[in-house]
This record gives sequence, structure tokens and C-alpha cells, in this order.
Amino acid sequence: MQNKTPASKPGYFFKISVISMDKRLERILPKVQKPARYTGGEYNQILKDKSAVDLRVAFCFPDTYEIGMSNLGMKILYHTMNSLPYVWCERVFAPWSDMYEQMKTNDIPLYALESGDSLDAFDVIAFSVGYEMAYTTVLDMLDMASLPVRSRDRESLLPLVFAGGSAGVNPEPMAPFMDLFVIGEGEEMNNELLALLRKAKLEGWSKQRFLEQAAGIGGVYVPSLYDISYHDDGTVSEIRACSGAPERVTKRIVKDLDSVPFPVNPIVPSTEVVQDRVNLEIFRGCVRGCRFCQAGYIYRPIRAKKPETLIRQGIETLKNTGYEDLTLLSLSSSDYRHLGQVCDGLLEFCEPRSIGVSLPSLRADNFSMELMEKLQRVRKSGLTFAVEGGSQRLRDAINKNVTEEDLLNTCRIAFEGGWNTVKLYYMLGLPTETDEDIVGIASMADQVLHCWRQYAKYKNRGVRITISTSCFIPKPHSPFQWEGQISPEEYLRRVNLLRSSITARNVVYNWHDAETSLIEAVLSRGDRKVADVIEAVWRKGGRLEAWSDFFSYDRWMSSFAEFGLDPAFYARRTRPSDEILPWDMINVGVRKQHLVHEREMAYRAALSPDCRHACSACGAASLLEGGKCDE
Ligand code: SF4
Repeated sequence: MQNKTPASKPGYFFKISVISMDKRLERILPKVQKPARYTGGEYNQILKDKSAVDLRVAFCFPDTYEIGMSNLGMKILYHTMNSLPYVWCERVFAPWSDMYEQMKTNDIPLYALESGDSLDAFDVIAFSVGYEMAYTTVLDMLDMASLPVRSRDRESLLPLVFAGGSAGVNPEPMAPFMDLFVIGEGEEMNNELLALLRKAKLEGWSKQRFLEQAAGIGGVYVPSLYDISYHDDGTVSEIRACSGAPERVTKRIVKDLDSVPFPVNPIVPSTEVVQDRVNLEIFRGCVRGCRFCQAGYIYRPIRAKKPETLIRQGIETLKNTGYEDLTLLSLSSSDYRHLGQVCDGLLEFCEPRSIGVSLPSLRADNFSMELMEKLQRVRKSGLTFAVEGGSQRLRDAINKNVTEEDLLNTCRIAFEGGWNTVKLYYMLGLPTETDEDIVGIASMADQVLHCWRQYAKYKNRGVRITISTSCFIPKPHSPFQWEGQISPEEYLRRVNLLRSSITARNVVYNWHDAETSLIEAVLSRGDRKVADVIEAVWRKGGRLEAWSDFFSYDRWMSSFAEFGLDPAFYARRTRPSDEILPWDMINVGVRKQHLVHEREMAYRAALSPDCRHACSACGAASLLEGGKCDE
């Protein structure tokens, strides 16, 4: 890693503030791995005078420093909340197991990195939750802050505990723990919520009064204002909104991405993190409509930044941080209409300074030699394609509009351009998948290998083709939200079928484990009853379970049994389309009828057009001024 903190930067030494560590912390830091995770004091962190602000926000990421510091949403909201003069927002991450043990042994509570103050000094505990497997860590962080984990046991208004992030589109499994959820994009909504909380704090409101008022802010879901009833078979019979709360909470979006502030001076971590680079968000939403993809639906409609905004923000951020890599981030970056223009503008600045520009994932259908040549001028990164299905029929069923010909053409261009490494991602267990589709994955890898033998520029370097599979997880608000997941045993059978079908030595096969996928499927489509299981798992020691080192399938299974809940009821059951779903009070903009239609299309292996070619009237445009998408 290069030195990313230019010493010539004015104010650098002023900005570094090693937190006011007490003696206990000083003693334990030399005993843990990567102590820089726990000290704060990074370049560009925001420090304020705590006596001069009305609200202190502990912005918590329920995973390690390295993961949280790579999260773009966290970077954006840290800056937007801190743009309010009466708010000081600080960062809090979950400690790794060694630090966790030391903190427990030495009686050190969870603390924020900027001030070093423990969480009892804060008015707001806000979580960013993008992944269901982080739920037990959320509870653990509340406990490390000496707070009761259930909202009903925290009687006073402060600290207000809320969560946002993509996992909130089905808030129900975490509903009893949160005072409220913010649904959708937080740039404007969080600041409206903080303005109301400031008023409530200064005027001494009760928690109940504040929650009832907060429910009137667009995008705010207050679970305690919704009564949920169940049928004898465990399905939801009624969702009833009380005390004036809206029947459905519509997610918030930022309508004009050019007009909202982008953090061009993000914090530069002092230790290596997962994404050690500038992440430049080029657009939100996706024009494609892959039927398994929750993100493609919950972030609709598409809103793009202007090329000049991107070039300016990219260059400013590079200047303010000293990073030597920049990634153009979005759900499908190669779909951005002005990609060539943005790459040209950025490369003009980046090339002479040896700064690399990359795209995180490419579609195999619109990749061009011109683009590839542009991006490889500085540094060549690996090629990654999310192909998802092993046959054209299956790819049509999931609306992944990529043909074998597209993929092979792209690979040919890449191999001719000097690439030697290709990663292909697939899912096993997609609706309508057959064994033939699985064998088709191996055949496609053989064809890619054949293509390399024909066209590779550097044959002497060899080729490496990696196939990765994960188990399909049906997700709320996608056309497959009603589908059942295959069992872990069936997933392993399909994995073994694929393994035995791969014969070439240059093809490596990795697969994601099935047990985590089962638990993720339960948490994704769970109801409020699942909260008891999450709490039980946490009480038995569950935390950081997104990491395989800490995940325990047995702990989850014993906890389901304790509460008489069957994971298969949530994960594997195919639900009728008229069943009330636990997340039906959340409106992400896309009409349920559209999802039903897309699911029917899947069973006919019929394609839907992408939004640039024809609008399928999914409903998301209603979130925009004028009710019309511009792509
Ligand atoms: S309203 Fe039409 S163009 Fe907009 S996201 Fe939906 S399908 Fe795409």
C-alpha cells in the first residue's frame, strides 16, 4: 500500500487526533492484531467540539473496520450528517475477536473512533445494515454499549436506535430491536430525522411522541406502530398500522444525484481496508431487471450523474486522498451511457500520475476493445463476469440478457488484449434450473479455455479460469420473492455434479457454503418471530457471522428449535402470490403486480426489455418528479 496521506497537505497534523485512550486501552492495543482499526485519528476524519453540538450520532457498522471503511454508503452519510452544524457524527465498528475479548476482560465499552467516547455519550445509535448475517453483530454492539437490545426496554427517547441500509427492505426480523428504520437513500431523510430529534430533545418529548411524529417523515418505518397478526399456519394474516402511521412506508430516493454532496474528502484509513481506493458512484439503480436480483429492484429508478460531475468529483477525491486507484461504482457500470467520456476525462488526470481506473464488474454483452484499452493503460485488473446461469434458457428465465456468443466475444477481445484471468460467477438453485443447465457451466468454461487457446496474446503465461457458485437466495421485492430455496443437501448435489463435469486443469471451481445461504434466506424473508431466534443466537455467542470463522449452523438450528420455528418454512417454502408477506408494509416503488408478471415471464423463459429500450411500467418512476424515468 502506498502512503496515502500526503504530508504536504495543510492541516494534516491538526486533523490527526489520537483518541483520548485511557490507560486500559493503551495496555491492550499492543496485544491485538491491526491496532490501527481501533485508534481513529485518520486523515480527513471529522472532529467537532462536542459542547457546541446538540446531537451526537454514533454511526455503527456491524462488521470490522476494514469492511465498514470500504462502504460507500457509510462514507456518504458520515459526511451528510456532519454537514449539519448541530450534529457530530462519529464512526463505530465491531471489534475483531481478539479486541473483543480484551475489551470484555478489561471492562472497556464500545467507543467511537473520533472522540474515543463510549456510546453512552451519544444521542443517536444509527446502524448501517447491508447484509442479514450482520444482525447478531448489531445486537452485540448494542450490548457492548450497555443498552438493552429490545426497543421496548429502552424507555427514554435518547439514545434513539435506528437502522438503514438495504437489509431494511424487510425490516421485520430486526423490528423488535430498532426504534425505527430509515428505508431507502439517507442523504435527505437522515437529516430530516435528526432535525426532528433535535427539536424533541430540546423540548423534552417522550419517546412515544417522537416516534409518532417521526413516522410522518417519508421513508421512516416505526415497527412499534404496526400490529402483526398471524394465521394458525404461521403466515401473516394482517398488518395493521396504528397511531396515524402510514399503511405503507415508501422508500426515499435522492432525485438528482448531481445536486447532493459527494464526499470528495473521505477518511483515508491508516491501515489496509478491503477497498483501498476511491469509489466513485456513477449511477444508482439498474436498467436491466435480472429477476433474482434484489438490488436491481430496490434501487430503482435509475439516476445517473453527469459526466462532468463525475470527472470533477473523481479528480477532487484523488487529490484530497492520495489514492492510486479509482473504481467507477454502480450495479452495472458498463451500462453508463457516457462511460467513454468519463474514462477519458479521468485518465487525462490519472495516467500521468500512474493512477488506475477500473470497473468492478462487467457485463459480457457490451464490453468493448476501446474501453478495455483505455482501462489497461495504467493497470490491468482481473476480468469478472456474472453469468449466473449455465444455459441460454436459464439465462432467459432470469432475464440475464447475456448470450454465450457475447461472453466468448468479450473473452476473445480480452485475451487478444493480454488478459489471462477470467472469473465467472453463477448461482445454483435458480427457479427452473435443471441438471443440464449445471453441466452447461462446465461446457462454457471449456469454451472460454478454447477461446484463450485460439486468441491469447501471451500464451506462455497460461490462463486461469475460475468458476464460483453460490446458492440462490430468494429476496424480498424481487420477482423471485415467492420462490423456495433448494435444500443444503440438494445444493451440494448440484455442486458435485458441476465438479465432476469440470475436466480442464486450468479451470478452478469455488463454491459458497449452503448452510450460510439457508440462514441468509430465513433472515431475508423472515417475520418478527424470527427476532427471538436472532436474539438467542446472539446470546449463545453469535457475532461477526458474515465471517465463516464465527458462523455456527448448529447454533442457529438449536435456536430455531428452541422457539419452535422451522427454517424451511421461511427459506424453502414457495409462497402463493396472494399471501401477505412480512415486508408488505414497505413500498420500494415497484408494483407487486409487476413482480408477479416478471415471475410468470421467468417460467416461460421470456425476456423483458431493459429500461433504455422500453419501459415495462414497473412503478418506480412514480418516485420521480413528473413520474417518468429519463433512461
Ligand atoms: S418505470 Fe420503466 S424505465 Fe423506470 S425503472 Fe421501471 S421499468 Fe425501468
